[in-house]
Amino acid sequence: MSRNAQLFERACQSIPGGVNSPVRAFRSVGGAPRFIKRAQGPYVWDAEDTRYIDYVGSWGPAILGHAHPEVIKAVQEAAVDGLSFGAPTEAEIDIAEAIVARIPSIEKVRLVSSGTEATMSAIRLARGATGRSKIIKFEGCYHGHADSLLVKAGSGMLTFGNPTSAGVPEEFIRHTLVLDYNNIDSVEAAFAEFGDDIACIIVEPVAGNMNLVKPIPGFLEGLRSLCTQHGALLIFDEVMTGFRAGPQGVQGLTGITPDLTTLAKVIGGGMPVGAFGGRADIMEHIAPLGSVYQAGTLSGNPVAVAAGLVTLKLLAEPGFYDRLSEQTRKLAEGMAERARAAGVPLATDYVGGMFGLYFTDSIPTTFAQMQQCNVEQFKKFFHGMLIRGVYFAPSAFEAGFVSGAHNDEVINATLDAAEEVFAKL
Ligand SMILES: *Cc1c(COP(=O)(O)O)cnc(C)c1O
Repeated sequence: MSRNAQLFERACQSIPGGVNSPVRAFRSVGGAPRFIKRAQGPYVWDAEDTRYIDYVGSWGPAILGHAHPEVIKAVQEAAVDGLSFGAPTEAEIDIAEAIVARIPSIEKVRLVSSGTEATMSAIRLARGATGRSKIIKFEGCYHGHADSLLVKAGSGMLTFGNPTSAGVPEEFIRHTLVLDYNNIDSVEAAFAEFGDDIACIIVEPVAGNMNLVKPIPGFLEGLRSLCTQHGALLIFDEVMTGFRAGPQGVQGLTGITPDLTTLAKVIGGGMPVGAFGGRADIMEHIAPLGSVYQAGTLSGNPVAVAAGLVTLKLLAEPGFYDRLSEQTRKLAEGMAERARAAGVPLATDYVGGMFGLYFTDSIPTTFAQMQQCNVEQFKKFFHGMLIRGVYFAPSAFEAGFVSGAHNDEVINATLDAAEEVFAKL
């Protein structure tokens, strides 16, 4: 039995399913997950010392490549001064100022320790600030695992949804409307019916949790104007896209200004940091200023913040995003070309340092279209790439991530491997 398989068997004895987050378990592609020993730049090494080119990047945070020397140094230096104090630090002001300076819609920001905490807190804040109960989310968008967000669409467009997890009582999601991404008519209809009780819309402005789905022209603009018209708040969940799709996230690319934004992943540079921020008048509803309670023992942790700060500093170097986006383009277009040459139906898309590979003829724009992708072909592709030393997300419905360390040599090695795999599909 391989060392990875042995570790997996051992892990399953003490950890449910052998993993601490479900998608790591390879259940949708089959086989034993690779246990990672170390990582450097664009590479990870597993328990058998097999090296892989990595397109998971810790699911987004590793935008500079793994173990960037300046990030590691910052963490080491911060750790020597103590791991956590439960009292404010100057570095928290530094990172708050860095976020506020770069994302114009954020006037004030509060730090948390994960994306889940950020979205859960932003929704509580939206409800507290508006005095309303209902929220709108879109099928296929993931906003962490808070109870009210673990919902899929119900039978009719304007019926309330069904829980996607056991342990979430119907009552807890009674106020969550689940609509179709990229369908502004459904949002208009929801406001017509429930307009004065809708606290907020939460949306991934580029969806990265149903593979990669971009907003069609008019969709985000429509959300913005409906929210403004009905006094609801627009929350951009940029946990994945923040500092990843571009230097100011998707809001910078589209020029659409949300009321609140959630961040995590990149802003921690590989350490647990999340944040939610936005208009000062809304943010001032949070305790200790206002009546919306939100707290965290390790929020703004000094070691985590040190990693985030130096990451944001390095991302601000001129040309970083142009280079990142160029490498991602080479990968996405190169994959599509290789597939075409082999007669394999594969569409690809990308934005900034994230990309989508779709085993179908054209780029999907809806959740329903995404479900039509050929999952069996993806599985073969995934394992074919894995044995050739390239690690993609072990699911057909996840976006992929390129880092600043994915140079031409790495991209070309990936495309060479893909050419071999496509020839066998
Ligand atoms: C990853 C993700 C989350 C959840 O973040 P965690 O840190 O895993 O809790 C929320 N929203 C989006 C868009 C994400 O991609």
